[in-house]
Amino acid sequence: MTRPSPDAAAFTALQAKLLALLGPKGVISEPAELAPYLLESRGLHRGSTPFMALPASVEEVAETLRLAAEAGIAVVPQGGNTGRVSGALVLPEHGAILVNLKRLKQIRAVDPIDNAMTVEAGCILAEVQAAAAQADRLFPLSLGAEGSCQIGGNLASNAGGIHVLRYGNIRDLVLGLEVVLPNGEIWDGLSTLRKDNTGYDLKQLFIGAEGTLGIITAATLKLFPRPRESVSLFIALADLEAGLELLSAAQDATGGGLCACELIPGIALDFTLRHIPGSIDPLEKRYDWHLLMEATSGQAGSGLREALESVLEEAFTRGRVPDAAIAASEAQAKAFWHLREALVEAQIREGASIKHDISVPVSKVPSFLRQAAEAVEALQPGIRPYPFGHLGDGNIHYNLSQPPGMAPEAFLARAPEIQSKVHDIAVALGGSISAEHGIGLVKLAENARFKSAVEQDLMRRVKDAIDPAGLMNPGKLVSKL
Ligand SMILES: Cc1cc2nc3c(=O)[nH]c(=O)nc-3n(C[C@H](O)[C@H](O)[C@H](O)COP(=O)(O)OP(=O)(O)OC[C@H]3O[C@@H](n4cnc5c(N)ncnc54)[C@H](O)[C@@H]3O)c2cc1C
Repeated sequence: MTRPSPDAAAFTALQAKLLALLGPKGVISEPAELAPYLLESRGLHRGSTPFMALPASVEEVAETLRLAAEAGIAVVPQGGNTGRVSGALVLPEHGAILVNLKRLKQIRAVDPIDNAMTVEAGCILAEVQAAAAQADRLFPLSLGAEGSCQIGGNLASNAGGIHVLRYGNIRDLVLGLEVVLPNGEIWDGLSTLRKDNTGYDLKQLFIGAEGTLGIITAATLKLFPRPRESVSLFIALADLEAGLELLSAAQDATGGGLCACELIPGIALDFTLRHIPGSIDPLEKRYDWHLLMEATSGQAGSGLREALESVLEEAFTRGRVPDAAIAASEAQAKAFWHLREALVEAQIREGASIKHDISVPVSKVPSFLRQAAEAVEALQPGIRPYPFGHLGDGNIHYNLSQPPGMAPEAFLARAPEIQSKVHDIAVALGGSISAEHGIGLVKLAENARFKSAVEQDLMRRVKDAIDPAGLMNPGKLVSKL
């Protein structure tokens, strides 16, 4: 439904009430202090709102939402603001305030017997990983923004990262949730239970909902045994199909111990070696395609390394792997992973880029990459495909660098046409237009193009049932469905 736009007096009255409730640390309205929270994470857009609320407890979140609903003012939840689809951006037409969760940061419990931990939404992902490690357990979610993204933001965007192959997205890592609903009611769905068949799995509705159904205030997360042995490998491939063969063989040989399988094209290695200090090519010659793999085992001396060596030897004999390096030390493993982490920065140094976070069935990745390369070259001669990422789960960052010498603005102006074509190819292969970053503001129109009428209607009905006044993160995810 469409809401009447709240006027300036309504915002001023709400600000006064929230100041009384949350105290001076709980409301930011001074423009210079507010500015960083209004900037989209790549600096592409700047939002605007009269103030931001920073509640410090679940009760304060509940009262903030109750007062906002009473005033008819919408709410945009914000975590670490590292999302890539402008989901935490507030624009004047949203008639909304920002509610940032960073003060809600207690680790409430870590239980190594239940293999579970309960953490508040504002905890930084790296702090959650560290708290698990302190209890000799693993919380496996790992991604480039882990030093600044928050667990609430990870849940709201169903974050993935490099370990999805073995442990799944965060959706697979959650036992229970605590959520404040748009009217200020608290749903306490926290639980350490592994089995509970008493109705709809409500927590899954809020995971990946991008803050459009309520504010996640805490979560009970699954913990795992901590690996005692880890092996990283940097492998040159004869062709893309060899990558799929290696993935399958390494999964078999390690009994499912493979936790990361990242694709790195030759062009990405070229850019990285050229632009990022301290980068070293682990191999002697240049190849078109590489895999970076990591496998772990719960036992030191488990034969993991030997098993992977045999996989490589066999592939080498058949001419499927021309060269490979197995990290001989932790420092060398770090150097391999440094290359992977530097890929984004290296691409920035080569000019403008157009990006996608598509997924296709793993078996279709080679076919997707060939079709997409041909299509984008036809649309923009000289374009430089720079596809990298999570081959193990079919999620490829299909990035494209501008042709050398082309004006960046002219290249970026081609983005809608190019993105549309790439999405068509991914979906025709049974894929998705977004495997990581979600829909937010930036992919609304594309999402509406591909979702079936039944799915669009169901999503709309869920939104209307939980947020009938349209107060949660307006204009995002479901607004145009
Ligand atoms: C260098 C880099 C690497 C990245 N790598 C990956 C990757 O490998 N995999 C991946 O999935 N993503 C990746 N991302 C994207 C991003 O980090 C993730 O989407 C992350 O989960 C967002 O968390 P955040 O706290 O920054 O959320 P924000 O950006 O603040 O918010 C994201 C969305 O969640 C909503 N939200 C935030 N907190 C809450 C809450 N408590 N309750 C309800 N809604 C909320 C917001 O309204 C918004 O819609 C990467 C980003 C960067 C910058």
